[in-house]
Amino acid sequence: MARNLDPKCRQCRREGEKLFLKGEKCFTDKCAIERRSYAPGQHGQKSGARLSDYGVHLRAKQKIRRVYGVLEGQFRRAFAEADRKKGQTGENLLQLLESRLDSVAYRMGFGASRTEARQVVRHNGVLVNDRRVNIPSYTVCPGDVVALTTSAREHLRVKTALKAAESRGFPEWVAVDVKEGKGTFKAMPQRAELSPTLNEGLVIELYSK
Ligand code: SF4
Repeated sequence: MARNLDPKCRQCRREGEKLFLKGEKCFTDKCAIERRSYAPGQHGQKSGARLSDYGVHLRAKQKIRRVYGVLEGQFRRAFAEADRKKGQTGENLLQLLESRLDSVAYRMGFGASRTEARQVVRHNGVLVNDRRVNIPSYTVCPGDVVALTTSAREHLRVKTALKAAESRGFPEWVAVDVKEGKGTFKAMPQRAELSPTLNEGLVIELYSK
C-alpha cells in the first residue's frame, strides 16, 4: 500500500503550522513548529518570499492532503466524488475525508494520530457494525458503530490514545464509550466544526483552473 513517507514534522513546517500528525508529541514543547517555525530545507529561513497565486492554491491543497494523510490520487478521487454529490463541493470534500474509517477511528481516540489509527485499522483492530474492516479509506456512514476488537482494546498505545482523547474531549459528531472502546459516527461534521485554517475553496479553484 502506497503511503506518504515524508517526515511528519517536516510536513508541518512546510505548511507553517501544526497539523498534529504525531500524536502526543504535538501537544508538547518538543513539537518542531514550536522550535523551528520556518520551512524546512536549505532556503527555509528565507521563505518570507511571497508565494505565487498558484503556490497559494497548491499549499492549501497540500495542507488538507497532509492533515488527512491521503495521497494525490486518493485526494483527486475524493474531490471528484465531492463534486458529483449534491451540496457544496468544499464541504462535501472535507466530510468525505472525515468519514474515512482511519479518520473516524482517530476522532474516536483509537490512535494518537491518524497514522496510528490507520495502523490499528490495517491490523484488523476495528469492527464496523460488528464486521471486521481493515480498509482505512472505507467510508463510515452516519449511524455506524465503530468498535475496537477485544485484543486491540488491550494494547497500551490504544489505551493511552483513548485516555488522552477523552481528556481533550471528543468532537460533536462522534459519541464514544471509552470503557467499551467503541463509538457511533453520529452525523457528518458541519463545516463550522472543522478546522478554520483549511481552505477548501482554494482547492476548488485549483482544480477548476
Ligand atoms: Fe507537526 Fe506534531 Fe511534528 Fe509539531 S510535533 S511539527 S504538530 S507533527
